[in-house]
Amino acid sequence: MALVNIDKVHKYYGDLHVLKGVDLKIQAGEVVSIIGRSGSGKSTLLRCMNGLEAYQEGAIILDNKEVSSDERQVRALARSVGMVFQSFNLFPHLTVGENVMLAPKLVLKQSAEDARKMALDKLTKVGLAEKFDQYPDKLSGGQQQRVAIARALAMSPKVLLCDEITSALDPELVGEVLKVLEELAAEGMTLVLVTHEMNFARDVGDRVVFMHQGKVWETGPSAEVFANPSTPELRSFINAVL
Ligand code: ADP
Ligand code: MG
Repeated sequence: MALVNIDKVHKYYGDLHVLKGVDLKIQAGEVVSIIGRSGSGKSTLLRCMNGLEAYQEGAIILDNKEVSSDERQVRALARSVGMVFQSFNLFPHLTVGENVMLAPKLVLKQSAEDARKMALDKLTKVGLAEKFDQYPDKLSGGQQQRVAIARALAMSPKVLLCDEITSALDPELVGEVLKVLEELAAEGMTLVLVTHEMNFARDVGDRVVFMHQGKVWETGPSAEVFANPSTPELRSFINAVL
């Protein structure tokens, strides 16, 4: 069975039908880029995948467990799904190290010593171990986003969801964040990336998912999809963004 099984998922915000029967399977180790116009439902889909939003029909099965937005479920889910957002959302009153240690201590009940080891390990992975005792406002946007990735990784997630995590960064800081994702991909981490970085999607992603009007409109191996889109909607999207 796939690591993530999304089966005919429908999501409404009141009367607004946002996800209209989304079907998607993601294998362990896959790097999936989700692309599509603003408003096509990309963020909503990620939020449903980690239980931040309820969906009304269909099912999302992650690591053989159904994702629901039930509170206990969300806590359990926090262990298998990591998420990084466009805005880094680091706690400003906590140091970098404390930001990364927080969830392992609170949710996984790790000892201070174990949490510290885990945090150092993950900060080393994103190249920021030396910032352990700094406060986030002393870091560049790119560094803050790398800390946010380390914080998500500290929970040892089965899959990491990233929602436009380079969109708020100055152009010269985008590369360092993409490099971290590339390294995670090379290590076999399962990644689901909503991204505007088409070159990254094409070169690093195994597969592209094009969302349009609340559906998976087209999906396939990255190189193929970009070279040879089969729907006019994807063709026009690619022409508009490349
Ligand atoms: P994308 O990430 O692809 O830009 P979103 O998933 O953010 O798209 O939004 C899909 C649709 O759902 C849009 O029409 C958006 O306005 C609407 N929407 C998103 N979040 C909410 C919300 N919390 N309440 C009501 N409507 C929302
Ligand atoms: Mg979005």
